[in-house]
Amino acid sequence: MSVKFDVVIIGSGPAGYVAAIKASQLGMNTACVEQWLGDGDKLQLGGTCLNVGCIPSKALLDSSQKYADTRDNLDIHGIDVGKPEINVAAMLSRKDKIVSQLTGGIAGLFKHNGVTAIAGTAKVLAGTKVEITDREGAVQIIEAGHIIIAAGSVPVEIPPAPIDDEYIIDSTGALKLSEVPGRLGVIGAGVIGLELGSVWRRLGSEVVMLEALDDFLPMMDEQIARESGKIFKKQGLDIRLGARVTGAEVKDCAVHVTYSNSDGEQTEVFDKLIVAVGRRPRSEGLFEPDSGITLDERGYIYVNDNCETEAPHVYAVGDIVRGPMLAHKGSEEGIMVVERIAGNSAQMNYDCVPSVVYTHPEIAAVGKTEQELKGEGIDCKVGVFPFAASGRALAANDADGMVKMIADAETDRILGCHIVGASAADLVQQVVIAMEFGSSAEDLALTVFGHPTLSEAVHEAALAVDGQAIHIANRKKR
Ligand code: NAD
Repeated sequence: MSVKFDVVIIGSGPAGYVAAIKASQLGMNTACVEQWLGDGDKLQLGGTCLNVGCIPSKALLDSSQKYADTRDNLDIHGIDVGKPEINVAAMLSRKDKIVSQLTGGIAGLFKHNGVTAIAGTAKVLAGTKVEITDREGAVQIIEAGHIIIAAGSVPVEIPPAPIDDEYIIDSTGALKLSEVPGRLGVIGAGVIGLELGSVWRRLGSEVVMLEALDDFLPMMDEQIARESGKIFKKQGLDIRLGARVTGAEVKDCAVHVTYSNSDGEQTEVFDKLIVAVGRRPRSEGLFEPDSGITLDERGYIYVNDNCETEAPHVYAVGDIVRGPMLAHKGSEEGIMVVERIAGNSAQMNYDCVPSVVYTHPEIAAVGKTEQELKGEGIDCKVGVFPFAASGRALAANDADGMVKMIADAETDRILGCHIVGASAADLVQQVVIAMEFGSSAEDLALTVFGHPTLSEAVHEAALAVDGQAIHIANRKKR
């Protein structure tokens, strides 16, 4: 018997599961196919983000930050607790509990909304049909009115450092180290390298990060990247730029890494090595050639601005298509697609997608960087406010970093905001909302911000755009 659904979604990560819930809410008969199996080979929803990405890494970042704060920052408050100890097993088990709570929560939401979850590996066939192979190899074919591919991404592997899951590990392995490594090497000083390197650094590892590029965080605003680099150095992260790893060999229970930099070939020995050199779309074996779906030159499923593939009624969203690999970007693309399938008008505003690095302090950004705007020949005004001048940040003993607001020189419209500082992720969201409403820097400057809050730094940066900050000396007007 052939089964037919209005919408079949492939993948249950933040792009897929959100699309599935929304499609059901809009009255469509919806199925979501997922291949991830957890304990006891039970279907595990949530994809990379919930299982081995955003959520477990944040659990470890929060645990390790509490440990480091207790160790390093309580005496200044007059609190003496002696030397804290970390129980890594307990820390990992807390993380695992959060993961199961959230993945179980999605199963509950599917049930509540009437989404059919199907365990198996899906492949798109011609004519909006989906072939699903379960773990025993049984194959079924289901028909779909529309298909949404949300199959996500996988870590990039590099030949010089093949993953062995014991000494040389990827981001998944780095979430379950059973003890704190004495010396930890990290290849790649990108988002994942910085987050996972921070976790183990706070717990006591000596962390060396080997980054091939000469610039630190090149996608970030240069001033913010520079400031972040200084803060991480103070924390003891040894970030070596212009260091391209050429080999890694496990000998005598240690990883011997060779890398080249401007001084020639170098070697380092680590107890563990994390490879965090990027992620790539998981597009292999996902569709038959006659399905009409095509890939772009980098292996992403080719889609237009509305996430339509070249095959009629087949869409793709999230990490498997162009754009930043961010959970919230995938979720919003999923919502847009199902709204459009339902006949409603919906569009994604790619200019207002925030991005965050969850180090401490956090780095968060929305819109364009100053160097991008200069490159595009757009005349802009910049306002900067350091947290060192924020009463709330000083009271919290957490005053590293700054807010940088950028507005169009002529229209005053906010074009970007870049923050390194405590709670930067939440602060930048205020500017995302403002930008979504087409706000000018003056609109924010004329808004009342509560005192004392970290948000006041956003206010002051908006004021500083026109040289009107109150709590810092303003730059002379041009
Ligand atoms: P990334 O692209 O951010 O960083 C990888 C780094 O590795 C790059 O700087 C690259 O130059 C370097 N590199 C590559 N080959 C190298 C070599 N041989 N030697 C030394 N350095 C080398 O990728 P990532 O950190 O792995 O993250 C992957 C994706 O996941 C990104 O798109 C990221 O945005 C996303 N992600 C986001 C978050 C978040 O939003 N907080 C968290 C984790 C991951």
